Amino acid sequence: MSWHVRSGAATDTGRVREANEDAYLVAPPMYAVADGMGGHAGGEVASALALETLRTMHEGSTEADLSAGVREANLAVYERQDRDPDLAGMGTTLTAIIVDEAGVRVAHVGDSRAYLLRDSKLTQITTDHTLVRELVQEGQLTEEQAREHPQRSMLTRAIGIDAVVEIDEAMIQPLNGDRLMLCSDGLTGMLTDEQILDALRSREAQDSADALVAMANAAGGTDNTTVIVLDISDAPPAPAGIDPVTGERTTTHTFADDIVIHGRGGLFAGRSPGMVIGLAIAAVVVVVVVYFLATGG
Ligand code: MG
Repeated sequence: MSWHVRSGAATDTGRVREANEDAYLVAPPMYAVADGMGGHAGGEVASALALETLRTMHEGSTEADLSAGVREANLAVYERQDRDPDLAGMGTTLTAIIVDEAGVRVAHVGDSRAYLLRDSKLTQITTDHTLVRELVQEGQLTEEQAREHPQRSMLTRAIGIDAVVEIDEAMIQPLNGDRLMLCSDGLTGMLTDEQILDALRSREAQDSADALVAMANAAGGTDNTTVIVLDISDAPPAPAGIDPVTGERTTTHTFADDIVIHGRGGLFAGRSPGMVIGLAIAAVVVVVVVYFLATGG
């Protein structure tokens, strides 16, 4: 069975944080969300490095092994800290999926989440690797207490902390019309499942992603928020052209195949302002030297 996926994605710094340490990857058939943590630029570097490693790993292999990619991402973030003491202690969550003939493969570490919306029912398909989740499972905290707990974002597992990481893996058999949502905890910390379900119903994928990020900000936006929405169907989307029923011109959404979008975005994502200025100065020096060499000055 070959599945067609239509995706929408959005990320935002929020109303409180100065930088966006979240990142997402839309590189069909792979989709992932990472929520970085660490001082200085550590969080931004960790989330972007994890996603770049995952993408590169997947591109380089015909046998798409999602978990191997996540292990490689873990090692990349872990080893990067050895080379750059400024980044010591950085880490990231990583929730990644691949949609292919076999189904929906999920690999997950941390407290970003994947949800399945099927038959109007929203189900979380990942388990948070947090201290409060363990305490709820042991019966020491209620769900309500966990939501308000001051240590609620303390992770028990993350990418880049150790050379080896334990990865949760799952395989879901999709059905036509399924909708999947990947998100960072900036979304789930701000909104209830009912609010999320509401925003996911009866909207296009991109509109849902945008609406969810806007709702998280409206609710306080205390964290970076990132959302990917994926619609799975067994038929390819209708090509652009004239709608046979209404006679109106239709368009299809097209999404760049390989993008890592970061809050700050672009070439310098995850790099310090000092390094960016240094690169700019170096570029000017090169231009001046070339000019003098060329003019014989
Ligand atoms: Mg977060």
